[in-house]
Formats: sequence, structure tokens, C-alpha cells
Amino acid sequence: MKLLEGVVKFIESDKSGEGRTNSLMILVRYEVMLCMILHFIYCIFLSVRGYYPVNAVYLVSSAVLIAAFVLSFFINRSDVIVTILALTTYFVCLGAGPYLGWIIAGYGYMYVTLMLLWYDSTKSTIVKLILSAVTTIAVMVIFIVRGSLLNIELSGVDYVFLLVVNTVLLGVCISLAAYQLCRDNVTDERKLMQYNEKLKHMAGIDPLTGLMNRRSIGEKFEELLKEETQCVTVAMGDIDFFKKVNDTRGHDCGDYVLKTLSAKFQNFMKGKGYVSRWGGEEFVFIFENINGDDAYPMLEELRRDIEKMELEFFSHKFNITMTFGMEEYSPMFGSEEAIKKADEKLYIGKESGRNRVVF
Ligand code: GH3
Ligand code: MG
Ligand code: MG
Repeated sequence: MKLLEGVVKFIESDKSGEGRTNSLMILVRYEVMLCMILHFIYCIFLSVRGYYPVNAVYLVSSAVLIAAFVLSFFINRSDVIVTILALTTYFVCLGAGPYLGWIIAGYGYMYVTLMLLWYDSTKSTIVKLILSAVTTIAVMVIFIVRGSLLNIELSGVDYVFLLVVNTVLLGVCISLAAYQLCRDNVTDERKLMQYNEKLKHMAGIDPLTGLMNRRSIGEKFEELLKEETQCVTVAMGDIDFFKKVNDTRGHDCGDYVLKTLSAKFQNFMKGKGYVSRWGGEEFVFIFENINGDDAYPMLEELRRDIEKMELEFFSHKFNITMTFGMEEYSPMFGSEEAIKKADEKLYIGKESGRNRVVF
């Protein structure tokens, strides 16, 4: 068991990335190794039994496959190794078939290599189609001319031995290829799903502040209403004279203020609901299961906190204030209307001197 684990680890080594080429290389290595074993067994057996000169075909192919196997650890080109494997397999079938018969010569391996060629993303579909046609024609031709060329009479035991070795290894080759392809598909599918999730997450997040954006808070609001949440209160907050911050201290300082406040909002809304960046320096808060009367003192506290908060950007200390408008959701109007009403109250707050919460 330890030996097997060691062999697997060795064959699957050198997997520098997670790309398809690397997993193809590992599969190709397995296939090369299995064909190499098959050809080696054939070579020994045919030599011992005195089936000359067909044993030479397997001797040559074993040597080539050993070289290809070693080469696979030095070059990162699975297509080269597949090509060597394909040429060797075709050479063996065509070289040994007339002596041993096409089944014993292992014409099935031609299809295994053909499958590997199809799996190789560096070749065009046209090339693959041509290779498929060539293989099919070659198999048909060798079947037709089989009778006239066969010149080794394999005795019962020899025939059975070669047939068994051939069939077992062919089964392993095909199963391994199928396993690897299916594993790759499952991995690809999982990766795609994770990527989609990530994209979906990113599409709903404001990149500067990390808060939910306008779209995702809108969806969240609708979700809450569908869940028949008992009550929802919406608040819209806007930084007072934010343009002045940008104009006097620079845009980077403005960004710093937005990020600092966003972190504060996120903390403040924990256990209360959700917060989003609605636009430039405007934020929408959604209080879940908190009515307007309860949300008001909470927002008042936040407003006072912001007023007292000392901001510092490159040793320049300064303060900012915010104005809020809030509205309790009512089934009489929709979510959009609730936000609009909160915005209207925010406007009233701005008009009446800023730095206040208007309910
Ligand atoms: P008021 O008290 O009436 O809200 O005044 P204000 O200056 O805050 O409002 P105004 O709408 O005139 O200016 C908003 C400014 O917000 C203008 C814009 O440059 C700035 N702003 C919007 N998005 C960003 C951003 O992502 N980063 C920075 N640094 N500034 C931004
Ligand atoms: Mg403003
Ligand atoms: Mg504004």
C-alpha cells in the first residue's frame, strides 16, 4: 500500500498549477506508464517464447515509452508526450498486428490515445477530427487484411495470457482516463460555482467602503418585506459639507473619511440591520424589526458620536457632522417610496441647519 502511495505521489508530482494541462500531464503519465508496462511484459513474454521478430516491436516501443515517461518530468508539454504515446501505440498495432492479430496487438489502445488527443486543448478540432478518421480507417483496414497477414500461430495458453494482460491493462487505461476527466469536470464545475458566488458578492459590494451597494440594499429591503418582518425603519444619512473636505484636504482625505465612517456604521448596525453606500457620501440604513420611535434615539446617538469623533489625516485633525432623515416603512407604500421619504426628511434636515436627525 505504501509502495502504491509512493508511486502515485511520484507520478502526480510536479503539478505546478491547477490548470487543465497539468492534470492532462498526470493522466498522460499514467497512460504512458501502463502502456510501457504492457509493452514490457509483451516483450519479455514474446522473447522467452521465441516469437521473433515481433518481440522487437515491443522492445522498441518499451524503450520509447520509458524515454517519454522520463521526459514528462522535464518538459511541461503534455501534447508532446501524447504525440509520442500515440505514435508508439499506432506503431505497435500496425507492427505487431499482422503477426499476433489486432486484438492481441491491442488496437483498443489506439482509441485511448485518440481520447487523450481530443482532451489536448492545444490541437484544433479539425486536427482531432482528422486523427479520429485516420484511426477509424486504420482499424478497419487492419481488421480487413488481418487474415491474410497473420503469421504467428499463438497456442492456447500464450493467447490467453496475452489477451488477459492486454484486456486488463486496457480496462485500467480507460477507467483511469474516465476517472480523471470526470474528476476534472467536477472540479471545474465547483470552481465555476465558487467564482459565480464571488462575482455575485462583488457585484453587491461598494469597492471603496466594502459596504453593500445601492442594488444589494434594495434587494435586502425587498427580502425583509417578503419575510414579513414586523417593522422596518429606513434612514438616509449624508455627510455635511463633504465637498469642503475634498477641496481643502484632498480627495484621498475624502476617501479616508468615507472608509472610517463606513467601518463605524457597520459596527453600529450590528444586530440592528443593514447599511449601504447609497451614492457618493450618502448612506442608507435599514433597521430590521425596529420601529421609528426606537430607531430615532439610536441614530441620535450615532450622530453625536460622529460629531465628537476626531478624524486625523496626515497629522491634520478635523471633525465632521452628518444629517439623517428617517422613515418607518408602511405597507401603504413600497420600499422605494420609504427611501424617498427618508431622503426628503434628510433634505429638510439640511435646510434647517444640518447635523441633525429628522423623523
Ligand atoms: P451638503 O452638506 O449639502 O451635503 O454638502 P456636501 O458638500 O456634502 O454636498 P455636495 O453634494 O455638494 O458634495 C458631495 C461631494 O462628495 C462631491 C463629491 O466630490 C464628493 N464625493 C462623492 N463621491 C466621493 C468619493 O468616492 N470620494 C471622495 N473623496 N469624494 C466623493
Ligand atoms: Mg453632503
Ligand atoms: Mg449628498
